[in-house]
Amino acid sequence: MPTRFIRSDILAQSVYHVADVPDDFIKLDAMEVPYTFPEHLQQVWAEQLLAAPINRYPNPATSGLQQALRDAFGIPSDAAIALGNGSDELIQFLTLLVAQSDATMLAIEPSFVMYRRNAELFGMNYVGVPLNADFSLNLPAVLEAIEQHNPALTFIAYPNNPTGTPFEREQIEQIVQTAKGIVVIDEAYGAFADDSLIGQAGQPANLVVMRTLSKIGFAGLRVGYAAGSPVIMNELAKILPPYNMNQLSLTTAKFALQNMDVVNGNIATLKAERERVADAMRVMTDTTVFDSQANFLTVRVPDAPYMFTKLKENKILVKNLHGTHDVLQNCLRFTIGTPEQNDAVLRVVQMVIAEHEARKLRAGSDDSAGLSGKLMWGVAIATVLLIVLSLILGLAFGKI
Ligand SMILES: *Cc1c(COP(=O)(O)O)cnc(C)c1O
Repeated sequence: MPTRFIRSDILAQSVYHVADVPDDFIKLDAMEVPYTFPEHLQQVWAEQLLAAPINRYPNPATSGLQQALRDAFGIPSDAAIALGNGSDELIQFLTLLVAQSDATMLAIEPSFVMYRRNAELFGMNYVGVPLNADFSLNLPAVLEAIEQHNPALTFIAYPNNPTGTPFEREQIEQIVQTAKGIVVIDEAYGAFADDSLIGQAGQPANLVVMRTLSKIGFAGLRVGYAAGSPVIMNELAKILPPYNMNQLSLTTAKFALQNMDVVNGNIATLKAERERVADAMRVMTDTTVFDSQANFLTVRVPDAPYMFTKLKENKILVKNLHGTHDVLQNCLRFTIGTPEQNDAVLRVVQMVIAEHEARKLRAGSDDSAGLSGKLMWGVAIATVLLIVLSLILGLAFGKI
């Protein structure tokens, strides 16, 4: 069998599952933005695509995209930028950059699964430091793990996925200062957050800030970028495939950045919707909504697998996090969609929670029925005992 030449650790792995979703489903499992370019921009975009030189190899350096990214997102002028075919590709090559025997990658758990997968793929040691139960960072544990394992590479998603929580900026800065290796702050959800480290990329030299266009409306383009000090980014440039970006997505990405007012409008809508959905869920019985600074909400419900199934029956796909990590017991992750899609979600969630309430009430009255039943038995047994006792006593004293 030719498979015997394939690494046994890969043979043992399973394929990264990409959901196959019917067209009539509301797809809220992968943090995609529900909007594309508005009609008045579609024609202009199409014309730019027509002019894209698809007969030529792409040259990201001269494409103008890097400068457009600097201008749009405030990347420092002395930081160097690497472009990736999605930030997934950058995670892969940042890992390859430091992967050698005895090198360690450190990340927090739960977080983006690709960090660990890449560590394993490239044969690095992997250390995952668990979050606290409220999804906050266990800073002492992280710092201790850094001291102990001296990681070559540390990944922190800021805000984190799949929890949505931001960490404290001071904590991140302390991690960057303590680590001797490269620290990648993954700001995939930076556009939805109150804070960003992009302005500090490359300062200190081990700080790399990574972002993507995926979560702001362009998951299909596969454009990610990382900014850091030239001493690191120049080495990364040596191993990135020279033509990893393509003309169509370079062209479209530049077009998107020229129309940031549209993109920012969508982001503002989604942030407002996130708060509206959070408020609506927060008042529901036995439901915990965790603070999120991303375009999704992670929510603990009474029975996540059941609610997941009910949503699916109603043609809504979310992410079931139950069973993926201890702190994610009964958690679902809802990507924020259009107001109409979110209303559809709220209707089903409300219905399932109402069912749960009714069941709880019934169980409550069953309980009290059980209690009075037991009481009656108790009284009956006590009465019989009393009669027997008085009979015995009567007999003993010869009165009967
Ligand atoms: C979605 C996501 C990515 C991957 O983004 P792409 O640019 O689409 O590859 C990276 N990091 C985190 C934390 C994400 O959630």
